[in-house]
Formats: sequence, C-alpha cells, structure tokens
Amino acid sequence: MNSKKQIAIEAVLKAGELCQQVQDEMVSTDAIQKSDRSPVTVADFGSQALICKAIGDAFPADTIIAEEDAQSLKHNTTLLDRVTDYVKRFVKGEVQNQNVCEWIDRGSGEIEESFWTLDPIDGTKGFLRRDQYAIALAWIVEGEVQLGVLGCPNLPHRLDVTNSERGCLFIAVRGEGTTIYTTKGTLLGEISVSENASRLAESFESTHGDSNTHTKIANELGLNKPPLQIDSQAKYGIVARGEASLYIRLPNPAYPDYRECIWDHAAGLIIVEEAGGKVTDANGKKLNFLSGRRMTENRGVVATNGTLHEQVLSILSSM
Ligand code: AMP
Ligand code: MG
Repeated sequence: MNSKKQIAIEAVLKAGELCQQVQDEMVSTDAIQKSDRSPVTVADFGSQALICKAIGDAFPADTIIAEEDAQSLKHNTTLLDRVTDYVKRFVKGEVQNQNVCEWIDRGSGEIEESFWTLDPIDGTKGFLRRDQYAIALAWIVEGEVQLGVLGCPNLPHRLDVTNSERGCLFIAVRGEGTTIYTTKGTLLGEISVSENASRLAESFESTHGDSNTHTKIANELGLNKPPLQIDSQAKYGIVARGEASLYIRLPNPAYPDYRECIWDHAAGLIIVEEAGGKVTDANGKKLNFLSGRRMTENRGVVATNGTLHEQVLSILSSM
C-alpha cells in the first residue's frame, strides 16, 4: 500500500500544479462542452493524462476507471495540442499527442476486484469560476476504498482564518487515519471530525442537489451556522477536518433519478471515515462502488461526523 500511496500522492500533486497553471493562463478555447453539456477543459485532460501515466508506469496491471476519455480530443487538434503542451511541462522525454491520448485512455477500465477510480478535476464548474475544485484518486479492493488522495489546490488551510494560505492535500489509508498536507508537501497534521461544527456543507451548484430539503434537515438538526456551499469533494475534506458536521447531497427534484458517479465519492468517503465520520447514501445504505461507473443502487449521499448520522437518516426517512 505504501508504494501505491506514494505514487498516488506524487501524481495528484503534479496534476494539481498542471491545473493551477491552466487556470492562470486559460484561453476561451481551453474549455468545451461534453455530450451531456457538462464542461471539460485542457486541465481535466492534462490531469488525467499525468495521473494515468504515473499509475500505468508504476503498476501496469492495475485497472483505472476515470471520468474522461480521449475520444473528443482526437477530433479537436487545437485542444489536444494545448493538452500536450501542458503535459510536456511535467513529463521527461518526448511527448506526442498520441502518447497523451493513450495515457488518458488508460482510464477506460471496467469494475474489477480491485481498481483505481479518478476524477481528474472534480468540480470543473468551480475550476472555471476560479473557485473550489479537487483532484480525486482512490484505490478500491473488493468494494472497499483502501486509499484516498484528494488534492484541493484552491482550498484555504483553514476556513475561519481570513487570507489563510491555500492548497490542501488530504490522504487517507484504511485503518491509518486521515492526514492533511499543504500542496507544497508540508504536513499540517492528522485530522478528525468535530462534534461542534454545527454546519451543513452542500454543492455550490444548485442543480447538483436539493438545497431546500438540505436546509430543512439542517434546521431540524438545529445547525445554526449558514451552510457552506462549495464545489467538489473539498466538502468531504471540510467534514473530515471538523469545519462542517455534515455534507448532504440529495437528488435535485428536476433529476430524481440522478445516480452518483464512483469517482465523485470514493476518495471523499475514506477521508471522512478515517477521520472518524460516517458515509452512506440517503437511505442509509453503504455506497456500492461495484455496481458500475454510476452507483445505480444508491440514492444521494450523506456524510457526517458520525454522531449526527442516525438522526439525519431518521429525518430523511420521515420526509
Ligand atoms: P459538486 O461540485 O459537489 O457539485 O460536484 C461536481 C460533480 O457533480 C460533477 O463531477 C458531476 O459528476 C456531478 N453532477 C453533475 N450533474 C449533477 C446532478 N444533476 N446532480 C448531482 N451531481 C451532479
Ligand atoms: Mg466530479
């Protein structure tokens, strides 16, 4: 596990640097719409290329299930050239467009007994707003997440400190707790959930959840601080380090059949669990990472400090 952890950390940090460079230099053609109308950028592809290359080189037999594929890039040379230019900054030796496509497509695996799952940029809408986003990588064995590495290049070290330095890396190994580093590699410490956070975290994007119901639940629980609306799995990190007591994500009423993607939750789940919290779906069911790229057997997600969990589920079941 240690060698997997080390490779994962290095790859996520490198991908985070690539994302920050794209964000600093972005031009309008660096983002396109996918067929489901969600955005994808040079940074999503570049991040996936770097991470899948690193994993594939170190562990050639490992399966990776990642959000993006190189299909659309193969028909858009302007975009592909940009991705390759960025990837070159981080890879020694010659790098051609076709190498980049091959590395990205290393992420097209299928569910197996063990596999990696990767969101190269979780919260692309936040990335485009220059807000929060995350690079989320997890290693899953027999359906249990064993390792989670979550890079949050724009996340302040502390939310309650004005002008706090930014850039957090959350790392969790099953049975070993959750630690947080700066994105420059300095250890900030071991983290744990809090009994006193008294605050809800939810998506910044109102269409990604059911904010009205989230607020009702927060009110019933007596959480008195205003909700934190933040993009990406940074929300799991915020619960894990005790800045919110729960993160709820119920399907938006306009998309009642929405099913969550595995790469949007695997890294976050272990980061909260190893910090002492609890994660289930909205019906109290364990998240099933073996049902496919989407968690077809689960509905929504509830992540808490543990103490609040049963109460949240009981409110949900009475609604
Ligand atoms: P967040 O920043 O927490 O809203 O999470 C971003 C993720 O939301 C993206 O990676 C998408 O996979 C996911 N997403 C997109 N549309 C929806 C939707 N209608 N409901 C829930 N999640 C969604
Ligand atoms: Mg995502």
